[in-house]
Amino acid sequence: MSDLRSNLDSTCPVLTTFQKECDTPTPFLRNIANAIADDMQAGLAVEGGGDLKMLLTYVDHLPSGNEEGLFYALDLGGTNFRVRSVQLGGMEERVIVDTKSEPVSIPKELKTGTSKELFGFIASKLANFVANENIPARFRLEEGRKREIGFTFSFPVNQTSIDSGTVIQWTKGFKVSGMDGKNVVACLNEAMEAHGLDMQVSALVNDTVGTLAGARYWDEDVMMGVIIGTGTNACYVDQKDAIPKLQSISSSGTTIINTEWGGFSKILPRTIFDQEMDEANTINPGEQLYEKMISGMYLGEIGRRVLLQMCESSHLFGQSVPVNLSTRFALSTKDLCKMQEDKTDDLLIVGSILNEVLEVEANLEARRRVSQVCDTVVKRGGRLAGAGIVAILEKIEKETKRLSSGQRTVVAMDGGLYENHPLYVEYMKEAVFELLDDTFASLIAFKHTKDVSGIGAALLAATNSIY
Ligand code: BGC
Ligand code: MG
Repeated sequence: MSDLRSNLDSTCPVLTTFQKECDTPTPFLRNIANAIADDMQAGLAVEGGGDLKMLLTYVDHLPSGNEEGLFYALDLGGTNFRVRSVQLGGMEERVIVDTKSEPVSIPKELKTGTSKELFGFIASKLANFVANENIPARFRLEEGRKREIGFTFSFPVNQTSIDSGTVIQWTKGFKVSGMDGKNVVACLNEAMEAHGLDMQVSALVNDTVGTLAGARYWDEDVMMGVIIGTGTNACYVDQKDAIPKLQSISSSGTTIINTEWGGFSKILPRTIFDQEMDEANTINPGEQLYEKMISGMYLGEIGRRVLLQMCESSHLFGQSVPVNLSTRFALSTKDLCKMQEDKTDDLLIVGSILNEVLEVEANLEARRRVSQVCDTVVKRGGRLAGAGIVAILEKIEKETKRLSSGQRTVVAMDGGLYENHPLYVEYMKEAVFELLDDTFASLIAFKHTKDVSGIGAALLAATNSIY
């Protein structure tokens, strides 16, 4: 008689192989962190030197708290778009009113349409927002003064200044035509003009940069901004003299580097399911491989593919394969995480999600296997993200020695996956603390800075105001 475990092993080889291939024991994770660090260094040395683009952001001055006045923020993320206005009251009063539009989900056809359509949509929402706003006298702009915008644009951009840049590549299912070599801000300006809006983009920022800047406004120890949402990325504060590719430009002081870590591709524990998803279901095959193992757009789809294979080769749910299981993206990352989080003995939540989403009745053994698949995907994602965080923390430490001198260091975190799935976050933190020296680990704080990227963008617009 075999015990349950060996029984599972022999009857579900797809699962056991998948688990084995996704495994990230500490020494392996350490190698990944080191490989990320090498690619960071290579990307800082020359443009395109490594998998991580290490983009210059031209954000050399972080918010001080003295910012004053009315500024706007546009946030084009992976899923939603939103407008907000922020009334900044200076050192004493800080943010006085922060008015946000409801997030609107970006229609699917706009993600793969023309730049005219996408920016037309943004400008129309913006026009609608300013037409309905109600600004108190103190913050009303004087005649002739343009409203200034911080534009959070969550894609890799080759910036030529704080307020201009071109898209390097699209991610997260976007593929907008008509923007090759075109300044993102110019695209927005044209659309605003067409809507009769006389506004000015004073800062173009990545969402990680907005997050870092916004978080820094309230906490001086914030050195890193990380997004784990539809996509994933991180930025950090570096010393300018530690950026060889910057030497021709300048100088001393600090600047934010947008790592675009999603592009990392080496020694990753990729499986056949990752490869097949990448080739068949993504708009950017061969790109953003690290992102595709970590972020919200992809985890559910990886899980679905594993379950489908388990049905076909090991009859996971009996003789038939649920029809829905053959539909791409039928299993959302949210549902995958919810099943992973089900810690009850009889896995009733797993059962009800399978019932709802795949229309199957799964017995306890099947539910257990499904739960293991979900856990494997979530754990690998969280731990890989942890390795990236360690690589960046160690880079910051190399340049600043802040941890060795006992200084607290804060990582500002945001994104739907981070926000809603505590067990993912636990895996991520566990990995960070496994790899870091104990004395350092005690000085690291992860802060969920929900939705501050818009405030960060508005603050950077204030810092870089044209007036
Ligand atoms: C983009 C990054 C962005 C991240 C999180 C990635 O797909 O390349 O620029 O910061 O998603 O939104
Ligand atoms: Mg976002």
